[in-house]
Amino acid sequence: SRLLQASTSEVYGDPLVTPQKEEYWGNVNALGPRACYDEGKRVAETMCTISSADTVIARIFNTYGPHMALNDGRAVSNFILQALENKPITVHGDGLQTRSFCYVSDTASGLIDLMNSDESGPVNIGNPEEVTLLQLAEEIIELADSKSRIVHTDSAVDDPHQRCPDIYHAITKLNWMPDVDRRTGLKY
Ligand code: UDP
Repeated sequence: SRLLQASTSEVYGDPLVTPQKEEYWGNVNALGPRACYDEGKRVAETMCTISSADTVIARIFNTYGPHMALNDGRAVSNFILQALENKPITVHGDGLQTRSFCYVSDTASGLIDLMNSDESGPVNIGNPEEVTLLQLAEEIIELADSKSRIVHTDSAVDDPHQRCPDIYHAITKLNWMPDVDRRTGLKY
């Protein structure tokens, strides 16, 4: 049977080029606190690539949507919970780091399209609408009509400064594009 490797934008580490194309080799710290995840995903990609099995690699960028675990510690779930409780919104560092958040139904349809294709990947699956964490916090405060204030906490170690998928391959090879914009997805 065909195997889909749910890889990650973390294979790009703290990328020095943006947007990130699949051809970019990445900038990963092999020893840092994120290394087990990043390098684990990278070696999984290697194994798929050298395997004789029918495999396809999807590089999934930040995904969000209903039923995220509230204690997961992710930016979207933390910010929404904090905003709904009118508690301080904890932005790590200066909040100028960027992410590109893809609504879960878009991510899922991209993965299904990949499985149904003849591609072996890697193919980036993500929403190229890039946003700073500060902007995300402000958007969530506004959408939740919250009284929360933003507080800055220590930066996370090896936190990538920027992350934005180049989805040219997904568009041209799968005819896939995300269609839920961030404000709409956050309201869901
Ligand atoms: N982040 C933040 N406050 C939080 C949780 C996360 O500022 O309460 C930041 C985190 O440091 C990172 C970004 O939000 O810069 C996205 O973090 P997340 O864990 O959601 O995803 P990932 O780091 O895997 O991209």
